[in-house]
Amino acid sequence: MKNETSAAIQTENEQLKHRLDELERQKFELDKKIFELKVLYDIARETTTTQDLKTMLKVFLSMTMGTFGIVKGLITIYHDDKLCWELIASSGIDFTLDGKPIDIAAFQSFSQVKEAQLISDSCLEDAGCADTTFCQWLQSVPLKIWTPILADNQVIGGICLGEKISGEEYYQENLNLLSIIATNCALNIRNARLFQENIEKERIERENRELKRLDKKKNEFVNMVAHELRTPLTSISGFSELMMKKAETKPRESLVKFSKIIFQESDRLRRIINDLLDLSRIKSGKVEMEKMPNDLKTVIETACDNVQLTAEKKKIVLYRDLPASIPSFLFDKDKMTQVMLNLLSNSIKYTREGGTITVTARTTDSVVRCEVKDTGVGIPAADLKKVFEEFHRVNNELSKIERGTGLGLSITKSIIEAHDGRIWVESQEEIGSSFFFELPYKEMNQ
Ligand code: ADP
Repeated sequence: MKNETSAAIQTENEQLKHRLDELERQKFELDKKIFELKVLYDIARETTTTQDLKTMLKVFLSMTMGTFGIVKGLITIYHDDKLCWELIASSGIDFTLDGKPIDIAAFQSFSQVKEAQLISDSCLEDAGCADTTFCQWLQSVPLKIWTPILADNQVIGGICLGEKISGEEYYQENLNLLSIIATNCALNIRNARLFQENIEKERIERENRELKRLDKKKNEFVNMVAHELRTPLTSISGFSELMMKKAETKPRESLVKFSKIIFQESDRLRRIINDLLDLSRIKSGKVEMEKMPNDLKTVIETACDNVQLTAEKKKIVLYRDLPASIPSFLFDKDKMTQVMLNLLSNSIKYTREGGTITVTARTTDSVVRCEVKDTGVGIPAADLKKVFEEFHRVNNELSKIERGTGLGLSITKSIIEAHDGRIWVESQEEIGSSFFFELPYKEMNQ
């Protein structure tokens, strides 16, 4: 009876021991899986912060090397469009390829290898590439392991690792984990490439849209120019024809009136052509701004003096609110005079009789700001930005009377921008407009 009991206990003990061994084995397997998952999780966490292929693969390499305790390693990727290998990330490598592609022969031998495996020196020699710098490096690294990076069962790169610092061998589990890491790497490479392709696609689409917009603008511009030139030309040809046909029958006063119109319209044509040439030369940068140390106050005063008589004829009072002096700085005197004349003559044109115009200038450490303010007809909000576009004329009672090409403000803006300045307008209909421009002051002063 006693014997039976102890035999039963012994059997139970053996079963328990067996069970314990089984549990130990399962725990070992679980620990391995947990380790693998943790490695993958850590790599995923670190690599999601970047979509840049190089940075991402550098992180991949350093995390993989950290996992196995390795000091020498590299990642290469294969460019099938250029049929070459690129050394994209490396650590502990004492030679540089200076961005040159790796000799393709160096990888020919193991570009067919679809599983993680040890690379022997004889494998390199067999490939007949033992004398390339890259292979020499490989040969100098004790124990190396090659893990292919596969996409659709094609080798798109590889992770090459040297020996472990501990001197330990690579176990089969290590090779399995390396294969999983390489699969992950392949997914990341694909995502980074898709991301890059998307960025590139978006850039091309953006550039396409911009080109189309410019093309449309250019066509509109050509149409506008043709239209603007046709109007005075129609007048000129109409009246000259009239003069030819009716020279004998029409009284002299009519003929004088016709030739006056022809003269005015030819003058308008000349102005449009000159303005267009000015505009295109300034915009294309062909007109060099002759930036010299100049006195802006004198330029403003001279421009005001020039338009004084025209203002008086319209009973418009022109006020000047200028500092005692504006220290000279670099700008093109003639072009800046043109800016002031454009702004002042616009203010006179678009202000009714009895109005006022005030020219103000102020300096700070970094800019000179000028304002030409009038009590004129103003500009509707919808036209505020457009007034700086070529040929844009606001439709109001004064623009019907006052002659203009719609190019003055475009030229003015181009001149200011060629001086690295900015120009803008604030306006309220029937209250008046203020045109401002700012020029970088200190910069020019240096
Ligand atoms: P334009 O030769 O017609 O004067 P600009 O380019 O100088 O051409 O001006 C464009 C348009 O902006 C003008 O036709 C006018 O409608 C409007 N504008 C310019 N300056 C003023 C101003 N001071 N007050 C009101 N409208 C203005």
